[in-house]
Amino acid sequence: MRSEGSAMGGWLRLILAAMLVVLIVGSYFALPWLRTRGARLVRLRQWFDNPAAHPEWSIQVGARCGEAPFLLPTNGYIGFTWGDSFRPGHSHQGIDIFGGQAPGETPVVAVTSGYLSRLPEWKSSLIIRVPSDPLLPGRQIWLYYTHMADTAGNSYISPSFPPGTSEQYVEAGEFLGYQGNYSGDPNNPTGIHLHFSIVLDDGQGSFRNELKIANTLDPSPYLGLPLNASTDPGVVAVCGQ
Ligand SMILES: [Zn+2]
Repeated sequence: MRSEGSAMGGWLRLILAAMLVVLIVGSYFALPWLRTRGARLVRLRQWFDNPAAHPEWSIQVGARCGEAPFLLPTNGYIGFTWGDSFRPGHSHQGIDIFGGQAPGETPVVAVTSGYLSRLPEWKSSLIIRVPSDPLLPGRQIWLYYTHMADTAGNSYISPSFPPGTSEQYVEAGEFLGYQGNYSGDPNNPTGIHLHFSIVLDDGQGSFRNELKIANTLDPSPYLGLPLNASTDPGVVAVCGQ
């Protein structure tokens, strides 16, 4: 009895020691990430509460950051970046820009010229084909925009691009619609924002599944902003940093 008890005690101590090591090593790697992410979440809350108090946190629709190839797609605070994680195993495939206005008020534009399509069932989304990636000429890429509808799925996309639109040419800076809060579930809308992502081509003339981060590109060099969550410098992503 006695020896079995101390053997179990030894195992317990070993397991506790191992857990402690995991905790310390884990914190070492997780804390900087939690700090920058925590700071961004706090700012997002402050932005929701009173956007007018933080005009310097907002990007400007149609502006170009330095020598970046693309224009900025809308106004607002960039609350979530590329690679952000909303739950274990999830990786955000684009950026979320929160306009700080009511649904249907914050304009959205084409960041570059291309060919716009909207699948017949798309209420809040559109995609623009760019035949030649400005950062890798010859490669075709796609620009995906979503959440451009109200909670019930009434679209805020410009009437120029009705459902079923295919390959309609748009100019850089052309008006596409407004930010919304459509999530697919009227009882659980998103915050009012635009989700924007850069999607790879499938090699057959269409786009890859935009829900997988492996099918998307880091938008940082295209927009001239720090938008990669894994190298988050902890600053507000606006032009001129
Ligand atoms: Zn998003």
